[in-house]
Amino acid sequence: MKEKKFLGKIRQDPLEALAKGPKEVMASLWQEYLQEILNAKQKSGRFRLVRQQVEEKADFPQIYRDWNNMDVEARAAAWKRLMAAAKDVLWAGWETCVRCGECCELSSPTLLAQDLPLFQQEVLTWNEVYTLRPGEKVTSREGKPVTLAEERLKIREVPGSHQCWFYLAATRSCRIYDQRPEQCRRQECWAAEAEAPAPAELLTREALLAGVPEVWELVQAHQERCGLGRVLQALQGLDTDQETASEALFDALHFDHYLRHMLQEEWKLTAAAIDFILGLPLTRFLQDHGINASLTPEGTYRLTPRCE
Ligand code: SF4
Ligand code: SF4
Repeated sequence: MKEKKFLGKIRQDPLEALAKGPKEVMASLWQEYLQEILNAKQKSGRFRLVRQQVEEKADFPQIYRDWNNMDVEARAAAWKRLMAAAKDVLWAGWETCVRCGECCELSSPTLLAQDLPLFQQEVLTWNEVYTLRPGEKVTSREGKPVTLAEERLKIREVPGSHQCWFYLAATRSCRIYDQRPEQCRRQECWAAEAEAPAPAELLTREALLAGVPEVWELVQAHQERCGLGRVLQALQGLDTDQETASEALFDALHFDHYLRHMLQEEWKLTAAAIDFILGLPLTRFLQDHGINASLTPEGTYRLTPRCE
């Protein structure tokens, strides 16, 4: 990567740009400058954190307070102090993650094959991950709805948010930072968007359950009867061959419900671990397709259009 030069000046001549302006102009030029150097938006956590560190180091509040009463030489010295602090802070962490936590708040990582040892070391357990099966609707990094072509294992999110389960908002820190998943290590918010991992790179339930064949057999049986492709086909068939489509749909719903119940009651697994083994409940998938499936007291499912 081409080395960036830290010139410590704005535009052509900092004195010319700064000598006549009030403190607000100086502050805005400072932020503009930092934004350009960091290649980060002013609202980003990375920008905020670096700015805070530099301003503390240079005693920016004092510079700001005194700016309007400073003569040209004093302004030059103050600006130089700010640049020296920026240089110290940025050279310590230039183009490295400053651990602002913003990406951890926006989403949790998808697990890759390299993350398998994290389960062997018990950094991750079945309770901290969930499975998105092929056919699930997700939102792409560009914010567009897409349908998954292959299975993904993801770290759970804090309920009601997209925040990673391991992120501690109060301290803006990761509970497993030294052993964080590969995708977190690859995260470089300052660089161009990285390529999405190739399907062969993704960690799968098959790899994770290689040592527990009784669970893997269950996964396969579930996939056979409750695969999302089959369920979607049944949904589409409701308009043409209602009887066959309803039969397939109810079979999938009941089998999904039965297996979850069995894993919870007999195997004593948590709901979180079951979302890893079987993926998210089928009822949720139907909701994404505009249908509410509710279990009646008689133990059968009733389907109704979902009201937003
Ligand atoms: S990679 Fe994530 S945590 Fe690191 S600086 Fe960028 S947004 Fe912040
Ligand atoms: S595992 Fe840690 S570094 Fe990765 S997204 Fe979660 S909190 Fe952030």
